[in-house]
Amino acid sequence: MAETLNGKIAAVTGAASGIGLATTEALIAAGATVVMVDRDERALGEITARLGDRAIAQTTDLLDTESCAQMVPEILAKTGRIDILHCNAGTYIGGDLTESDTATIDRMLTLNVNVVMKNVRDVIPHMIERGSGDIVVTASVAGHMPIQWEPVYSGSKWAITCFVQTMRRQLNKHGIRVGQVSPGPVISALLADWPPERLQAAKDSGSLIEPSEVSDAVVYMLTRSRNVTIRDMIVLPTNFDI
Ligand code: NAD
Repeated sequence: MAETLNGKIAAVTGAASGIGLATTEALIAAGATVVMVDRDERALGEITARLGDRAIAQTTDLLDTESCAQMVPEILAKTGRIDILHCNAGTYIGGDLTESDTATIDRMLTLNVNVVMKNVRDVIPHMIERGSGDIVVTASVAGHMPIQWEPVYSGSKWAITCFVQTMRRQLNKHGIRVGQVSPGPVISALLADWPPERLQAAKDSGSLIEPSEVSDAVVYMLTRSRNVTIRDMIVLPTNFDI
């Protein structure tokens, strides 16, 4: 039997833009209440005012170690429980490795990998105690195939893909489902970091997808019967050709 999201409490990181915002809107439409975690306080204020009572703002800079550690306790203080954690916040850099400065590499690996591991670690005891929960991570198609012009980004997404698969196997026995969604290029603020000629070529060939096409996949995963764990949904433009 399909799961309903009515009454569920979800937390979505990176919720003020792109895929995280689309997922928030889709989860609310499906009946959930969503704690929107983002560092962009102003955007969160505007969005939660628009979305109503079932959107709750939580301003957290996940790159700040102390704030990151407080994320799950602060959500639990607000809502009392977390049924769904969508670890979605992430950043992007492309370009040759030799062109990537140390601070940028560190920031990307911290946000795309370490923060996800810490957020998952912090929510697990709560979900194990309740014997139920869902964790979804936004990975990337770059976590499945090496994309030559984005070695650091691809490396971060391969790392988190491996982490998700191991956690899925560990947490299954506790009634916790762990899956990931792996999009191809999505029209979002993140693409501002793409080289302009690559972005233009992708637009010209129609090889970009909408954030809502990714959030549809997330809601699909979460609404399957609890007998089923969707491990990974790769969501690509039809004419994706890398
Ligand atoms: P986006 O830039 O539109 O949104 C990212 C959100 O994360 C923003 O609201 C931003 O404020 C927030 N954020 C960034 N750093 C943060 C921090 N330190 N603390 C808290 N919040 C922070 O990007 P998007 O395209 O929606 O990307 C979301 C996820 O999807 C990322 O993990 C990204 O790697 C992945 N992804 C994106 C694409 C794409 O083409 N856009 C493709 C595959 C995977």
